[in-house]
Amino acid sequence: MFAVVPAAGRGERFDPSAGGSPKQYAPLLGASVIEWSLRALLREPRIEKVVVVVAADDARWPPLAASIGESGIGAGKLSSTSGGATRQESVLNGLRALGATAAPEDWMLVHDAARPCLDGADVRALIEALDGGAGGAVLAAPIVDTVKRESGGLVSETVDRTGLWRALTPQVFALAQLEHAITDAASRGITVTDEAQAMERLGFRPRLVQGSPFNIKVTRPADLAIAAQILRTMGEKAR
Ligand code: C5P
Repeated sequence: MFAVVPAAGRGERFDPSAGGSPKQYAPLLGASVIEWSLRALLREPRIEKVVVVVAADDARWPPLAASIGESGIGAGKLSSTSGGATRQESVLNGLRALGATAAPEDWMLVHDAARPCLDGADVRALIEALDGGAGGAVLAAPIVDTVKRESGGLVSETVDRTGLWRALTPQVFALAQLEHAITDAASRGITVTDEAQAMERLGFRPRLVQGSPFNIKVTRPADLAIAAQILRTMGEKAR
């Protein structure tokens, strides 16, 4: 079992005033967002290697990778490769980088570098849900709010939230199937926003595994304060 962490986003939505400083490097409780995002994966003994996909000109990653290596967490597991223009291209590059070591049927966990509040218990639940099924699995949280569709700034309808979930990461699929699914979507000009969507297009039905709703994606600067509070509440589990 392996993990791919896409971290090649430029963070344009995150802080345009900072010239698009990538959110994965934002400081968070004495570390950076990405260091927190990697922790649960590096600590999970069933994950053999973690490949971080960074922008080709990313000067911040090499020293950070060296310091994670020196910290002893997940010794020897970490490597990196270059990302692409979209998240799906970056994930594909990560899968290809692991393809040299992994077998086609090996499980690949894909986890956003921008999700620092991942609980190790959720990683274990996700892995245990695989249970021999070929369709893969996705961490998710049920939608608790009433959901509206907007049109021109006005509510056009209330969407029935029964059976609606927020898809989180990690998501886990077999290497060859996921690589094929993402390549197929890309070849038809379809942009998928998560791995499950690429697999669903080909008829797979990934298992939904209920995870913590606090596994948030840092998207706006204000999310950093929320993530810090979540990590404090998680306490030792997060460290
Ligand atoms: O932009 P978004 O929040 O959806 O990004 C989710 C994850 O995908 C982030 O960790 C980001 O760094 C990564 N990403 C990437 N390559 C891109 C765009 C986003 O690895 N070209």
